Amino acid sequence: MSQTLYVASSNPGKLRDFAVAAELFQFDVVPMPGLSDIPAPTEDGITFEDNARLKAVYYSAFALDSVVIADDSGLEVDALGGEPGVRSARFAEDAGFVSDKADTADERNNLYLLQRLASRGAGTKAARYRCVIAAARNEEILTTAEGSVEGEILLKPRGSGGFGYDPLFYLPTLGKTMAEIDLMRKQSLSHRGKAFVALLEKMRG
Ligand code: IMP
Repeated sequence: MSQTLYVASSNPGKLRDFAVAAELFQFDVVPMPGLSDIPAPTEDGITFEDNARLKAVYYSAFALDSVVIADDSGLEVDALGGEPGVRSARFAEDAGFVSDKADTADERNNLYLLQRLASRGAGTKAARYRCVIAAARNEEILTTAEGSVEGEILLKPRGSGGFGYDPLFYLPTLGKTMAEIDLMRKQSLSHRGKAFVALLEKMRG
């Protein structure tokens, strides 16, 4: 019989990614019931692990005796000392950056990232995506797992797939950005896909 995992996320992309991998491991991954009625916790951790843990523990209080998983992820750019890191979703907003060339938060984040890198001159822009997933039950952590993928930041966006920083995140081994590869491939090589498989392996063990 497969074990049910509740995902504390309403992001359809994440849910789809998780569901594909879970089937192979005989876990049933479903959105946490009533998630939209639960006020979101403040993600004030210093690391991805802090935030993943605090979210998993927090949401598990709303699903008695069930296993709840939560993830936290983001981009680390070496030339920026690891920024934006845990602030990836709010990178431009935190800096008060606005631009009439950007309509969405993702576009503002990407433009702000390019501006920050431009002021540092040319050179390799080594970067990685990182993800930590935590599983909790009855407000106690069961286990955590992490995954990462190395890449470089391009000077101009390429591709229309993915989300967030994907059009700027270049994978030298494939010669493509994350926004230029298909979903199945992204799932298998991405930070989130790797973290999730590692988590399922630990939970199965
Ligand atoms: P969260 O884990 O959903 O809070 O993601 C934090 C932020 O990191 C997102 O809003 C994106 O800016 C960035 N990010 C995380 N994973 C990805 C990814 O797979 N592609 C592009 N951006 C990502």
